[in-house]
Amino acid sequence: MAKLMELSQQVCSRARLTRDARFDGKFFIGVLSTKIYCRPICPARTAKESNVRYFPTAAAAAESGFRPCLRCRPECSPGTPAWLGTPSTVSRALKLISESGLDDGGVESLAEKLGVGSRHLRRLFLQHLGASPSAVAKTQRLQFAKKLIDETQLPMSEIAMAAGYGCVRRFNAAFRDTYSRTPTHIRKLVRKSGDQSANQYVFRLRYRQPFHWEGMLAFLALRATPGVEVVEDGRYCRSIAIDGERGWIEVSCDAPNDALVARVQIRSPRSLFPIIERVRAMFDLNADWLAIARSLKADSALTERLASEPGLRVPGCWDGFELAVRAILGQQVSVKGATTLAGRIAARYGAPLLAANGLTHVFPAAKALASMKVANAGMPTSRVETIRKLARAVCDGTITFTADTDADELRKRLCEIPGIGPWTAQYVAMRALGQPDAFPTGDLGLLKALELRSSRELERRSEAWRPWRAYAAMYLWCVPPLSRSADSAYSDARRSRERAPAYQSEQPSYRAVTA
Ligand SMILES: [Zn+2]
Repeated sequence: MAKLMELSQQVCSRARLTRDARFDGKFFIGVLSTKIYCRPICPARTAKESNVRYFPTAAAAAESGFRPCLRCRPECSPGTPAWLGTPSTVSRALKLISESGLDDGGVESLAEKLGVGSRHLRRLFLQHLGASPSAVAKTQRLQFAKKLIDETQLPMSEIAMAAGYGCVRRFNAAFRDTYSRTPTHIRKLVRKSGDQSANQYVFRLRYRQPFHWEGMLAFLALRATPGVEVVEDGRYCRSIAIDGERGWIEVSCDAPNDALVARVQIRSPRSLFPIIERVRAMFDLNADWLAIARSLKADSALTERLASEPGLRVPGCWDGFELAVRAILGQQVSVKGATTLAGRIAARYGAPLLAANGLTHVFPAAKALASMKVANAGMPTSRVETIRKLARAVCDGTITFTADTDADELRKRLCEIPGIGPWTAQYVAMRALGQPDAFPTGDLGLLKALELRSSRELERRSEAWRPWRAYAAMYLWCVPPLSRSADSAYSDARRSRERAPAYQSEQPSYRAVTA
C-alpha cells in the first residue's frame, strides 16, 4: 500500500469504527469480501478489521479493483486535501487533471506541462495518492458522471459528453465495468429532488467541518463587484463566462449536511465540470482545516483567533484575471472604493447579462481591458496603464492563471508590470492559484496585528506558519484579537457589512507597491 498520507492504520481504524466525519475524503475503506469501497461515514454495517483495506484516495481503491459504494457515494465526499504533505508537482498535476482531465496526450503531456519526466510523475502519484495519474483521471470522470446522473435530469448522452467520455458507448462501458449496472439503472436508484428548472443544475459540494460560511460571505460581500457579484440572504451569486457562454452561479450553505449548494445556470452542460471545480476552489472546499489549525495554533497571535472563529478558509476566485484587476484597483484606496471602481469597469467593458438576481454584466475579459480608456476611469493614468499591461500579458499568454502556472513564475511576471509590487503578486497567488503558503509580505494590516515594525520581522515570524501562511494571513486580517473586542468580527460584519473594519486590510502598503 502507498504511504497512506499522514494517517496510520490505527487512526483509520478508529475513524472508521466511529464514522468520524472529520476524516471524510481523507481515506477510503475497501471491503475485501464485497470488493466495494466506502467513505469513513458509510451508514452500512462496519466490516471486521481483517476484512478491510485502507486507501488514501478513491482512485487508489478503484485501481485495486474495488467498486464505489452506492450507499455512501464516494463521489460525494469532500475532496482530497491535496496540499497536505504532497509536493507541489502532485498538487499542480491534480489541479490540471481536474481542469481538463487527461484527454489530450495522457500522462506524457501532463508530465511535460509540469516540467518533469512521466516516470517520475507516476512514481510521485503512487507514493502520495496510491494511484497512477490515469487512474485518478478515470475515477474523477466517473465520479462526476455519477453526480450528474444522481443530481441532474440531464439525458445520458449529454452526461457522457459533459463528463468527458466523448461517446455514449465508452460511458456505458465504464459504468458496466465499475457498477455492473447501466447508467439508467443507477438513476432509478436515487430519489429526485425535482427542483431544477431548464438549463439549471444543482450540486451539493461537501466540506469537512468546520467551515466558517459567514466569514467567507463577509469577505466576499465587502469585495463584491456591483452587477457581477451579489451577496444577500446568506447566498453568494455571480455572473460567469466560460467557453463562450454566459450564465450565473448561486452558492448557499446547507450546514446540517456539511455541504454547499451550488446552483448553476448555463446553456450547455459541457462546462459543468470546470464550473464545479472552480466553485470548489473558490470556496476552498478541499482544505483540511483541523490539520491546518493544528500547525498554526502554536503561534500565540493565532491561538485565540483560531479558537474563536473556527473554519475560516482562504477565499479563492472565479477568475484569476478578474482578481488581479481587482487587486490593482485596491492599491491605495479603501476596499469600498476599489469595489466601486470595479463596478464601473464591469458596467463599461463587461458583456451585458440578462439575469433576474441583480446581476447585469459579466466581468470584462482581458481582451476588453487591453485598450481600456483613461477618461472617466476615476483613477490615475498610471493605474489604468497597469491594468492595460496586465490585460495584454494575459492576451498574449505571458501571464496565465491555469493549474500548470508555477506560482513563483506568476509572481515574477506580475512584478515585471510597472505598478504591480510583491504585495499584489502574493495576494493574487494566494487567491487565484490557491497557494496555501502564499503570503503578502509587508502587509500593513498584518504588521499592525502582530505589532511588528518591518516586513523582515514579519517574514521571520511567518516562517513557522509554513506551508499555511495564507491561512494565518486570513486569521490576522479578519479576526480581531479577543482582548480587543468583546464581539467577533463576523457579528460586526453582519450588523454592518459596510463598516467591518477588520476586513479593510486588502490594501497594499505604499512601500510594498512601490518597491
Ligand atoms: Zn459505503
